[in-house]
Amino acid sequence: MKVAQAFIPEKIYMGRLEKGADIIASVEEFCRERKIRAAWVNIIGALERATISYYDQVKHEYFHRELNAEYEIVSCSGNVSIKEEQPFAHLHIVLSDTQYQTLGGHLWPNTTAIFAAEFVLFELKPENTAEELKRCPDTETGLALW
Ligand code: ZN
Repeated sequence: MKVAQAFIPEKIYMGRLEKGADIIASVEEFCRERKIRAAWVNIIGALERATISYYDQVKHEYFHRELNAEYEIVSCSGNVSIKEEQPFAHLHIVLSDTQYQTLGGHLWPNTTAIFAAEFVLFELKPENTAEELKRCPDTETGLALW
């Protein structure tokens, strides 16, 4: 294991995200307002649109698929950590369509419109307050990693 930090569970928040809002922006705003710098997030609900992505490991770039229809959020989960001194949400999502077919991928920011979404957010605090997980550019993968 290359990077790991010990965290202590703090508050667990449960709530509903605003209709029409973006999932990632909503989670990041929630964390900014409460000064949450690390968290685990789970969301279920429904979307009116979304863009899911996959990362091409050779080209080092994201490819996107825009979805403009009604979808159930079968599962959306991920984490919040610090990138450029701001809470940054990294979420993946599985959606199902009207035919119960599923699609999934890396959730792209500022592309979703929430129909309804319920979240559980587990706030985490570093065991050693001087240490926290921060995302930094990684040349080997081209991603911002811990
Ligand atoms: Zn991802």
